[in-house]
Amino acid sequence: MTLAVIQPSPFCNINCDYCYLPDRAKTDRMGEETLHKVVKGLFATDLVREAITFVWHAGEPLAVPREWYGKAFEIISSHAPAGLRITHSFQTNATLLNEEWCDFIQKTGVCMGVSIDGPSRIHDAHRKTRSGAGTHGRAMRGISLLKSRGIDFHVIAVVTGDSLDHPDEIFDFFIENGITRFGFNVEEQEGIHEKSSLEGAGYDRIEAFFQRIFERQKALQGAVRVREFDFALQRILGKRAATREDFVFENEQVRPFGILNIDWQGNFSTFSPEMLGLATEKYGIFTFGSFLNGGLEASLSNPAFLKVLEDTRAGVERCRRECGFFALCGGGAPANKFFENGTFESSETAYCRNIIQLPIRIVLEDLENSLVQTGPPLANPATPGDS
Ligand code: SF4
Repeated sequence: MTLAVIQPSPFCNINCDYCYLPDRAKTDRMGEETLHKVVKGLFATDLVREAITFVWHAGEPLAVPREWYGKAFEIISSHAPAGLRITHSFQTNATLLNEEWCDFIQKTGVCMGVSIDGPSRIHDAHRKTRSGAGTHGRAMRGISLLKSRGIDFHVIAVVTGDSLDHPDEIFDFFIENGITRFGFNVEEQEGIHEKSSLEGAGYDRIEAFFQRIFERQKALQGAVRVREFDFALQRILGKRAATREDFVFENEQVRPFGILNIDWQGNFSTFSPEMLGLATEKYGIFTFGSFLNGGLEASLSNPAFLKVLEDTRAGVERCRRECGFFALCGGGAPANKFFENGTFESSETAYCRNIIQLPIRIVLEDLENSLVQTGPPLANPATPGDS
């Protein structure tokens, strides 16, 4: 396991209308004792080997005081095995950033991701405060601060019904603001967010959006990196480089404990991070155990975990049988299968069509076109001894 998503608090200071977190108005916070037990329990297993990234998320990470993180990072280091490489990462709405946070980020080397959906008209349509005001101005102040302090960051933008037909506007906004690494989440029906503004939008519009973003990125010849196309290329090159015929992209979301998701009370789940703590009729709560009571080992006999595991594996097998992208995908995102298809034991979802298949198709098509333009492969060069 190389990724643990920890919820220091479920609280978020804003209230995006596409958010899937049910408890984002609650201000509870993980206690020191709980964190000690979480990291002790985690490092006591042989799941963590050379490196691990802690993503502080599932609420707004900067709504928790810096002092809390200072202590939390110390606790983690105090229990970590010698030589383990530890990375901390915040995905933030940037509205609470100030000089003191920048000092902390620079001192601790936290990796920064900022959530902003594009220009204010697009962003403020969905990313609002609890009183309904837009948050773009405050997010942009945070971004300016990061830039003025020389702190590197990437951006994640949610594609909604308000942005789908405006890829150029969004791309221009990023370029004008010096944002050169970004990725897109297509608004999903997920958790308590049951209706996406993209419902009925039609695949051709989503395709046109990503195609245009790809063209714009390509025109800048590497000066801009778009996560979806980078991932697609990595998957394609990984497959090409593999020596085994049956090579399949290693998908952490379908591997039990490939990703560990931990809530502020020390409860945990695995598979997709969005599943943490959600209650469902079919499977019960996606909490498979607690670091305060039995830890990871006890979850191995938890019937809810075993059922999700069984269905997730059956879903991967369906993907293997039914999907031509399987070798480059490895079976998708269990959370999306459940939220869209009602069961983990399923294959294709809108998420995989938009975020896995489409970028792979766009990148492959571009590679094939480049090959056609450069002409047929050269004949083998003459072997030594030929004259
Ligand atoms: S792209 Fe979708 S259907 Fe295909 S293997 Fe991945 S999750 Fe399964």
